[in-house]
Amino acid sequence: MGAGLAGLACAHELERLGIPCVIFERKNMTGTIQNNIGAFFQIEDRPIKDPFNYLRCMYGISLEPVRRMSTVIMHSPKYQATVRGNLGYFILRSQDVNSLENQLVRSVTSKINYNVNPDYRELANDYDFVVVATGNSSIIEQLSEWKTTITTWVKGATVLGDFDPYTAVLWFNTDYARSGYGYLMPFDQHRATLALITTYAQHGELDDLWNLFLHNEGLNYEIIETFELDVDTGIAKEHKVNNIYFVGNAAGFIDPLLGLGAFHAIESGIFAARSIAMGKDYEKMVKKIVKKVEILTNYRTFIDKLQNKDYDRFIRLLGLPIIRNVIYGSNINVIKYAHPIIRILK
Ligand SMILES: Cc1cc2nc3c(=O)[nH]c(=O)nc-3n(C[C@H](O)[C@H](O)[C@H](O)COP(=O)(O)OP(=O)(O)OC[C@H]3O[C@@H](n4cnc5c(N)ncnc54)[C@H](O)[C@@H]3O)c2cc1C
Repeated sequence: MGAGLAGLACAHELERLGIPCVIFERKNMTGTIQNNIGAFFQIEDRPIKDPFNYLRCMYGISLEPVRRMSTVIMHSPKYQATVRGNLGYFILRSQDVNSLENQLVRSVTSKINYNVNPDYRELANDYDFVVVATGNSSIIEQLSEWKTTITTWVKGATVLGDFDPYTAVLWFNTDYARSGYGYLMPFDQHRATLALITTYAQHGELDDLWNLFLHNEGLNYEIIETFELDVDTGIAKEHKVNNIYFVGNAAGFIDPLLGLGAFHAIESGIFAARSIAMGKDYEKMVKKIVKKVEILTNYRTFIDKLQNKDYDRFIRLLGLPIIRNVIYGSNINVIKYAHPIIRILK
């Protein structure tokens, strides 16, 4: 259920293993409704050095990013830090033929039934297995113990301007983002996604926070389209119930800190396929993803307490070459190794 990254990656792996499958997609097409550029941040997936290479070598999935990310500029209210290096990739999310989803569609041969909204209980009766890849927690909440970690509101826009296509810009400021952040990621030299991910806000507040973001940061780009959505992140006790597997966001495999989940969506889809085809224990396979979401939930609790002066301190620290080199000039799994400190501080 769901022809997003997780569902399509699952179908791709099932086909490789000789298992026929049928895909049901609620929309009339694949790809996100929102046109947006996202990212695979290298720091997030360590110790994996290159997620695209990894997907190709480990799972035979050939996907192309838009381009490498070589610079990230981070702003706190008073300071700015710039990091350079192999910082990850920009990825295309939209209905464009080159979006990650549409690249995956071209690599599967299974039938995709569009415009359908099947009942998972009926599918569970009719098929050997059901893989829930719907991108939201509504079904897992019915079948497993579920705890919502955080709900974030996202307001985004496609903007026109003059951009460096290799640079991402991030803004941290509790006045408009609370414990979230704003970002700008370029499609190309002239077009970019500008978005605000804000935590602990009411829906009605979003426009005011967005306007404050644009005003405070002096972002007066021409806006050609906007989108708004909310994203729930949470933790489920089980990720397989009887013959029903949960993958991607539908399983809660989205990072509660930055809202990244594309890589784990793909990987969990593959794990579900391998579990179905080879009888492997799915819970064991997804353990590393579950652990990472747990770790990042602790980071989330820590970040929730930060004030603007703390962001200023952090960005100033990042300005020091020695700190920058340790974090960005190496492949050290910073998220894992800084976790004991975060656990004490949270
Ligand atoms: C604005 C935004 C920016 C993001 N940026 C990044 C980023 O930069 N990097 C990153 O790693 N992650 C990012 N993410 C998160 C990432 O997009 C998700 O983690 C990833 O898409 C999850 O994939 P999925 O296949 O589980 O779900 P989805 O991509 O949501 O796909 C679910 C599919 O299921 C379909 N569906 C839903 N309900 C049903 C139903 N009942 N029956 C049939 N089909 C159904 C939907 O139409 C959709 O096609 C971002 C998310 C958002 C919202």
